[in-house]
Amino acid sequence: MQIYKAPLRDMRFVIHETLDAEQLSKLPGYEEATPDTIDAILEEGAKFCEDKLLPLNRVGDEAGCTYENGVVRTPPGFKQAYDEFVGAGWLSISSDPKYGGQGLPALMNFVIEEMVCSTNLAFGVCPLLSGGAAALIARHGSEAIKDTYLPHLADGSWSGTMCLTESHCGTDLGLIHTKAAPAGDGVYRISGSKMFISAGEHDLAENIIHLVLAKLPDAPEGVRGISLFLVPKINVKADGELGPRNGVSCGSIEKKMGIHGSATCVLNFDEAEGYLIGEAHKGLRCMFTMMNGARLGVGMQGLALGETAYQSATAYAKERRSGKSLAKGAKSADKADPIIVHPDVRNMLLTQRAHNEGARALAYWTALNLDISTHHPDAETRRDADELVQLMTPIIKAFLTDRGFEATNLAVQVHGGHGYIAEHGMEQLVRDARIAQLYEGANGIQALDLVGRKLGQNTGRLLRHFFHPATEFVAAHQDDETLKEIVLPLAKALGKLQQATLVIAQKGLGDPEEAAAVATDYLKMFGLVAVGYMWAMMAEKAAAKANGDADGDGRYYANKLKTARFYMYKLLPESAALFLRIMTGKAAIAQYDDEDF
Ligand SMILES: Cc1cc2nc3c(=O)[nH]c(=O)nc-3n(C[C@H](O)[C@H](O)[C@H](O)COP(=O)(O)OP(=O)(O)OC[C@H]3O[C@@H](n4cnc5c(N)ncnc54)[C@H](O)[C@@H]3O)c2cc1C
Repeated sequence: MQIYKAPLRDMRFVIHETLDAEQLSKLPGYEEATPDTIDAILEEGAKFCEDKLLPLNRVGDEAGCTYENGVVRTPPGFKQAYDEFVGAGWLSISSDPKYGGQGLPALMNFVIEEMVCSTNLAFGVCPLLSGGAAALIARHGSEAIKDTYLPHLADGSWSGTMCLTESHCGTDLGLIHTKAAPAGDGVYRISGSKMFISAGEHDLAENIIHLVLAKLPDAPEGVRGISLFLVPKINVKADGELGPRNGVSCGSIEKKMGIHGSATCVLNFDEAEGYLIGEAHKGLRCMFTMMNGARLGVGMQGLALGETAYQSATAYAKERRSGKSLAKGAKSADKADPIIVHPDVRNMLLTQRAHNEGARALAYWTALNLDISTHHPDAETRRDADELVQLMTPIIKAFLTDRGFEATNLAVQVHGGHGYIAEHGMEQLVRDARIAQLYEGANGIQALDLVGRKLGQNTGRLLRHFFHPATEFVAAHQDDETLKEIVLPLAKALGKLQQATLVIAQKGLGDPEEAAAVATDYLKMFGLVAVGYMWAMMAEKAAAKANGDADGDGRYYANKLKTARFYMYKLLPESAALFLRIMTGKAAIAQYDDEDF
């Protein structure tokens, strides 16, 4: 059975004790984000997700979305849950108050996103896209466009999509065929076909606002010739009321491996009315506002499913009996012990847990920096925070989704044969988690973004926003008796990561294929070290409190230290193998001709 209780204690530990998110309420515009408000939101969000979304997760998987004559229906219960979700304001938690949002920090949106996706990933796709569409319009839309669309995206009466992919191209958007023809008065006629468009058609909202990449008649070749258009499903009249249907229709929905409750649509644009967003031919730049937000959101999806996988597997391991404990002195009278006594099972559970808790800290740390990047009064501090977010975005997207998938797979393993059976819900978690490694830029593309763009950007300044604080932390704590066994492995891995960075930067200058060949290994290594840094920070906070009340919070802190140790002993060492792989460069990969495959 899928089991989930929002890990509120852990969330609070990261937010308040590790990251000191109280600093948020000192930023102009975030005065209301006090620790009490944050805690109240966590409690309410948890209730909603546990009570309303979790019971619909299996329904959504089994019933799926249906398609009939261009009409898409979401699974039973989804519409009511959506209405309650938007009615309670969960969609607009971080949106601009000027347009009906609540103006709370992006960090709160991350936390809610985690809970939503832990309980029902398919349900979470539509709100993620609406939030992304709103962020894009807020940043790049004209005042008139903002006034017309943002209030509806905030209250959930309209939803958003991102329309990039076409049948022949997903990664290489320079190849798109969709066309835009100027029709006067600022209107463009959009024609072409997009595929794999999430929430492209559904019955949750009155209108759907598509953000569509297309090419103008005079467009230069490739990605430099892409423009961005806003295309409503139903045209909006000058008075803001809904008008006639626009020339966009859903041709079909995909039958797919997971997230059955989210419709993945073919959308046909037939001279549909659209409005240019940003400058002509520079649309991809604007679209990156939405894509970067969505990449962070998809990373949260990976973490979210990893958490449900851990909780479900733990509950099962405590119930299921098989074999006897090998621990010295363990002699229960029962014929068999719960499988949680077995080292191999504990290892699987702790692998999930140590990753989840560390990844949560990494994601929230990134979210905190996102808030600093938009709300801090000092321009240089804003810039530095923004650069850290840029650096972390591909890592959050790829590392958290790869490890989230692994966590769901481990949950199947802990369940034995029962994990393979639909009734327990573990195989659904695996199927649902798999998409997060693919959409919003496949994980291999995230790795190329990290080595190709982020490494060298501003002569390595982005990297320094990670390496400097991590190195300072190590220097400050490596002689601490309690923390030594946690900080020293981190120091070693951090040093190797810096060495690998230099090697890639040097080799990549002469031969970009060298950098590309090791990009995925490098991203994994970076992810492991970044999560290791989070564990060291958490251990430092926990160490001071671990000797308190053994049955209450003291136990929580003591367990934090134990999990930090597990991470350093069992997970971080993988970075040493990745280092060796990186050092061998492209030679073993490049030795074949294409025909030899
Ligand atoms: C369920 C679902 C929902 C989706 N939702 C949306 C949506 O809402 N909007 C939208 O626009 N799209 C959506 N997509 C599309 C998704 O973003 C793309 O499928 C994804 O970006 C990969 O593109 P592709 O499928 O064309 O694969 P390809 O680009 O053909 O890539 C295939 C493989 O080759 C690798 N590859 C490709 N190019 C390179 C390169 N230059 N260097 C190294 N490796 C490379 C990739 O990493 C990948 O492993 C969705 C897809 C699915 C399945």
